[in-house]
Amino acid sequence: MATAANDVSTKYEAVIGLEVHVQLLTKTKIFCGCPNHFGSEPNSNVCPVCLGMPGALPVLNQQAVEFAVKASQALNLVVNETSIFARKNYFYPDLPKGYQISQFDKPLAERGWIEVTTAEGALKRIGITRLHMEEDAGKSMHEGFADSDAKTYVDLNRTGTPLAEIVSEPEISTPDEAWQYLTKLREIMLYTEVSDCNMEEGSLRCDANVSLRPRGQKALGTKVEVKNLNSFRFVKQALEYEIERQAEALGEGGTIQQETRLYNPGEGRTYTMRTKERAHDYRYFPEPDLLPLIVTAERQAAIRATLPELPEAKRARLIAEYGLSAGDAATLTATRERADLFETEAKLAKSPKRLANIVLSELQGRLKAAEIELEDSPVTLAGARLAADLVEEGKISSKILKELFDHAFEQKLDFPAIYEKEKPQQITDSAEIEKMIDEVIAASPKQVEQYKAGKTTMIGFFVGQIMKASKGKANPAVVNEILVKKLSE
Ligand code: ADP
Ligand code: ZN
Ligand code: MG
Repeated sequence: MATAANDVSTKYEAVIGLEVHVQLLTKTKIFCGCPNHFGSEPNSNVCPVCLGMPGALPVLNQQAVEFAVKASQALNLVVNETSIFARKNYFYPDLPKGYQISQFDKPLAERGWIEVTTAEGALKRIGITRLHMEEDAGKSMHEGFADSDAKTYVDLNRTGTPLAEIVSEPEISTPDEAWQYLTKLREIMLYTEVSDCNMEEGSLRCDANVSLRPRGQKALGTKVEVKNLNSFRFVKQALEYEIERQAEALGEGGTIQQETRLYNPGEGRTYTMRTKERAHDYRYFPEPDLLPLIVTAERQAAIRATLPELPEAKRARLIAEYGLSAGDAATLTATRERADLFETEAKLAKSPKRLANIVLSELQGRLKAAEIELEDSPVTLAGARLAADLVEEGKISSKILKELFDHAFEQKLDFPAIYEKEKPQQITDSAEIEKMIDEVIAASPKQVEQYKAGKTTMIGFFVGQIMKASKGKANPAVVNEILVKKLSE
């Protein structure tokens, strides 16, 4: 398929549009009072409304509306003051009513965007067509029972879970842009706390639509929808596979059939699932049991006032306020909790930049190696701040810092405790340091010559030698001061 891959870059361009379902973190379901809770005993969180008993009437959950509005605002969408619930009719065993309450031609919100970075490094806005509210269906269980070869079981606990469906414009050009779009979307849902976005539990689900068209052509090609993508990595892999498959088919003079395909992560390929239903098959019509949903401008403003600082803005501010690099800011703002923890300490730190460095190198490195989360770390961010301050004040060298971090992790102690316990005996006695410096200078005539000839970076060599001689215990500030004086004599 190597030639197909070449064709993708020269002959064809990919067009991708994503449909994302996000479960909203309400206490109860969207149209009844049943708990919205994952992992309960099957069919225990149900009532006549979510079971679709005749005559049972839906009552819209206000919290679900607030979360959906909040999500819309955070995604730059325009919220409609009036939106309409509609019935989407289809038969499936996990849908006892025979229809799903969704929104159709008047969704809650329209016309937003998420920004990604292209392969060329340019910022690019991916349009979001709409965000609409709907109820989730139940779950068919095909596996895990003694008689699973003969039977499928149905768990209706999920029926009626509030969902926000977020539909992108067909403006994504590469699998990597799709990955970025999803990562940002997830981050925004987490920051606004409208969903836990747990993909294993199905709180965030994604369908990917992809087509190819000859480069330069405006009209869209025939698309394929890929389902069963339960990680962002699988979305990327499935898109890469699908783009090659389509390029190969088109390259051989074939056509693409509009269909729904399933991704098989084990085999790394997609399979035909069914040829696609058209919208009119669903016989959408306005839901007669619910009034139009009105979200006034005042209500919208009140909800907007509860939005937290969003990840993009936070990153820009951390870069400006604390002098962090873009990469460091991205890591430190990966979750809102982490960003808050960092900022609390950064405000107190003698050098926020130094704190960031220590968190990213000493702390994150060890956490990654030990496979533990920051929340379970023996060294807290407050502990890391003490470490950063000690280095900043020249009270410990970076070599000692590393040792203390090692010991803290070995003994499961926070940094202040290990520092108190081991209080490294630092050599600050300038007479003693002077003696070491004299010895190093005497032993390195070549380097001294280079330094005096203007190669001032040689200072690093001397400091290194002295640190080695003192086993890392010489006070770096004192070393530097005396060294510079001696070398310019
Ligand atoms: P459908 O009616 O099949 O659900 P929609 O028009 O509602 O199709 O679009 C669903 C998703 O598919 C959207 O994210 C949209 O951007 C994307 N999409 C639509 N047409 C194409 C295409 N030709 N190629 C790739 N993606 C597409
Ligand atoms: Zn119910
Ligand atoms: Mg659609």
